[in-house]
Amino acid sequence: MRTAAKELNSITSTGALFGRKLNVSIPTAVSGKGVWIFDEHNNGYLDAAGGCAVVNVGHGVTEIAEAIGQQAETLAYVNGTQFTNVAAEGLADALAPHLSATVPDPRCYFLSTGSEAVEAAIKFARQVWVERGKPGKWQFISRRPSYHGNTLAGLSLSAREHYKTAFLPLLLPFEKILAPLGEGEDLQLAEALEAMLLKLGPENVAAFIAEPIGGSSTAATVPDLDYWPKVRKICNRYDVLLIADEVMCGMGRTGRWLASEHFGLQADIVTLGKGINGGYAPLSAMVASGELVAEIAQGSGQFLHAGTYSHTPVMCAAGLATVQYLEKHQLVERSAEMGNLLHNKLLRLKQFSSVGKIQGRGLFAGIEFLDDPALRKPFQRNRKFIEKLVAE
Ligand code: PMP
Repeated sequence: MRTAAKELNSITSTGALFGRKLNVSIPTAVSGKGVWIFDEHNNGYLDAAGGCAVVNVGHGVTEIAEAIGQQAETLAYVNGTQFTNVAAEGLADALAPHLSATVPDPRCYFLSTGSEAVEAAIKFARQVWVERGKPGKWQFISRRPSYHGNTLAGLSLSAREHYKTAFLPLLLPFEKILAPLGEGEDLQLAEALEAMLLKLGPENVAAFIAEPIGGSSTAATVPDLDYWPKVRKICNRYDVLLIADEVMCGMGRTGRWLASEHFGLQADIVTLGKGINGGYAPLSAMVASGELVAEIAQGSGQFLHAGTYSHTPVMCAAGLATVQYLEKHQLVERSAEMGNLLHNKLLRLKQFSSVGKIQGRGLFAGIEFLDDPALRKPFQRNRKFIEKLVAE
């Protein structure tokens, strides 16, 4: 045991920290400014992806740091069952105008991580059906490939097998349909939702969940324009709620406040995370339409969910300052503008034989790497192409 621990120390430089990667040594980040991260040796790293689409306002923004400090000084914590608070109310009101094109009369429930927002969305959708007297509706349909989080229900919705294999006995049996490809044939992939609903029986299905523009699993795939209208129609016809997971593609990343806007998509529930607070404090949101929230208010009177840190003032103050910063500097419009430039320049990568599709909207871009582009053959996973590219 002691030898193993010694070996662990030789491969990680992290002392007592149980870090994310146990078999590699990674740099220690010390500071950040704008698009740059600096390590302990003052090496600078261009934070091109904003972590994982998190840092959408840059590092070292004084206004956000001050808002967090002021909130911590004024009021650190209250429990959401006993008090509402000014920061949470302010953040919800500031977000609402940016969400209402997608969720009518949006109501925001604040949590800490994207996985928690997805988990809350699942429970909320399920509770709506229980309140409506349709307790048979408990199943959820998602897509393959997809990623909706690392909690057990989020993982159950996700089609990312290497994250799931070890935990399969603990996961829920949610069905998947194939994700769209944006290559002109997505209408058929949308129709697969109808086939799946008929297979499961719509009386057993609570909701369909998907990313409006694909995130980490489909590298910013933009579905064909007829995809989302068809999905919305099917959900309406079979009385199934539609959850748009905007944890990665939302909050301005694609050049619109929500990626759903590119398609005129109306969702019943939206999940937000990552860029909602630019990375300054953990924050996510489950946003539901006022109509659905009213049904629960007039029914049992309480969303059956709880969390010590839901609606916490400090994280909401960070979120409010971030939304104000995005507005003041028109960064969502800027994302659209700079996105055009980025996508034009990315086209140059087409000269490399390993580059396949280049896709996305705004400052959200995905590049497909292929071993054989003519056959659309991906690299064998064990060649670790992406790890080598990232290391470079
Ligand atoms: N949904 C989507 C679409 C995501 O991309 C992610 C994170 N990559 C999550 C949910 C989970 O968010 P978190 O890692 O903050 O729990």
